Order: sequence, then C-alpha cells, then structure tokens
Amino acid sequence: MTMRRKMAAGNWKMNGNSAALSVISELVATHTAKTDTDIVICPPAPLLFRGSESASASPLAIGAQNCHSAASGAYTGDISAPMIADTGATHVIVGHSERRDACGETDSDVRAKTIAAWDAGLTAILCIGESAKDRDAGKTLDIIAAQLSGSVPDHATGDKLVVAYEPIWAIGTGAVATTQQINEVHDFIRKRLVQRLGDDVGNAIRLLYGGSVKPANAAEIFKCDNVDGALVGGASLKAEDFTPIIQALVAS
Ligand code: PEP
Repeated sequence: MTMRRKMAAGNWKMNGNSAALSVISELVATHTAKTDTDIVICPPAPLLFRGSESASASPLAIGAQNCHSAASGAYTGDISAPMIADTGATHVIVGHSERRDACGETDSDVRAKTIAAWDAGLTAILCIGESAKDRDAGKTLDIIAAQLSGSVPDHATGDKLVVAYEPIWAIGTGAVATTQQINEVHDFIRKRLVQRLGDDVGNAIRLLYGGSVKPANAAEIFKCDNVDGALVGGASLKAEDFTPIIQALVAS
C-alpha cells in the first residue's frame, strides 16, 4: 500500500496584510514537531517573501494562490512560478474555482500553469470541482473526469502534484459535502489517476477535500479513505481555527 503524507493547506484568498504574518508565526510556534502531515499556508502574493522568512527552518511551507504559465514577459500584474519560488515559497494553488469562474481560466490554462509550477520546482495544488447546477443535473463525475483529463499534465508525480476536490457549492458557504459525496468523488479521482498514470503515481498523488472545512467537521472528513487532507479557506485565517484542523488530520 502506498503511504501518502497528509496535507493541511490554508488558502487565505485576498485576505490579510502584514499584520496577518502573526498567524504564520503562531502556527510556526505551535507546529514544531515533524509529523506525517505537511502544513502549507497560501497567503496573498505580497506576503510570500516575509511569510517564507517566518516559516523557514520550520515544518510549515508557504504557497502562492496562482501563477502565470510563462516564466516572464509582458503580463502586467501577473506573477510567475519562478518569482514565487524566488520568495522561498514551495507550493502554488492552480485552478481554484474562483479563478476558473472570475478569470475564465480553462483546463488547458490550468494545465499550463501546473507545468510552469513544476518547471520552477514548485508543488502544484490543482483544484477541481463541480457547481451546484452540475451536481443537480447528475453530471458531477463527468465534470470531474473532464477537469482531470484536461488539467492534469501527463508527467505528474506524487511529489509535484496534489489534487484538491472542492465542490463549488461548498466553498465559503458552510454547506460541507457529506462524507458519502466526498467518498464517491475521491474514490473516482483515485481510480482515474491510477488508470491514467499507473499504480505507483496514481496512488502517490494526494487528494485534499476543500469546502467549508471547520474544526467541528474535520475529523469526520479525514476518516474518508481517499482523503489525504484539506484545502481550507476561511478557517485557515486564524491559528485558533486552523490548528484543531491540523491536529485532527495528524490524529487521523
Ligand atoms: C477555498 O477557498 O479553497 C475553500 C475551501 O474555502 P472555505 O474553506 O472557506 O470553504
């Protein structure tokens, strides 16, 4: 059986200024021990340098929330994967539904960003997930299959890729998916990754659940077989909320 390290990743979205760096310091001070769980904080881009400095020499890792697919060039306002790596960050979220929706990112954009992340030595946390309309129409697994085949590059490995299943209807809504829904989709993602990439790679890629994960529901979600951790939005903004989620994952 493939042993996968677990991962608790926090997506701060467009929240937090330099005062929020104290949250990273608090997490660094709390999580000193090496465990089987990776902890990643993805603050807004202006905090990447200082966040990486605060987390250096700790088990905490820092990630960005997006990157451009080009390494440099005339792309005003964008940041590239090598620039992210230069801050000391080691991870980047790609294909978050808020970017797919608000910025029109397609599966092929997400695929290109993932390759750019790998070229810069970053681990990509690639998000997929269905809308409420897709789910109501019974299309969830078709959407997931299409997103996986369109956005996961062929040369994926367990070190470089983490897939986050985030049903859009559960993000920031408090409407967490049931463990039955999570199991169905995570088992399906695992099966698809194994079919496409083979046993070793398909079983090594970590699968995170995201969508209204809170201290009160985390332990139940982490009992699901193919859930290796969580991508957490709102509850990652305060150390007092994120820490019990991390502890529930370590204990799972
Ligand atoms: C997210 O932004 O990826 C997310 C899952 O948000 P929340 O935990 O707030 O639903």
